[in-house]
Amino acid sequence: MGRITKGRQCSVKLCENESIRSISLLQVSSYLDLKIEKNMSRAYLCKEHYKEYKKKSKKDKRTEKLRYGGGQNTGKRGGFKGPMS
Ligand SMILES: [Zn+2]
Repeated sequence: MGRITKGRQCSVKLCENESIRSISLLQVSSYLDLKIEKNMSRAYLCKEHYKEYKKKSKKDKRTEKLRYGGGQNTGKRGGFKGPMS
């Protein structure tokens, strides 16, 4: 019982599970809808979302090439705001 403070929360929007993995933000952001914070370079995923990420990334390995080219269904417009100012 009690709060676990050493674990990080999953970075996926609306998810409050504890993360089990961290993965480069760029790799994950095209597959999952993340809560992106300032200076964030890694995404933390819980078990469920890690599975989902793996499934999706496996499905289209070829997208790696065009990760900047706007994938399908990202719903993001207006360009990528990187950590660089
Ligand atoms: Zn999650």
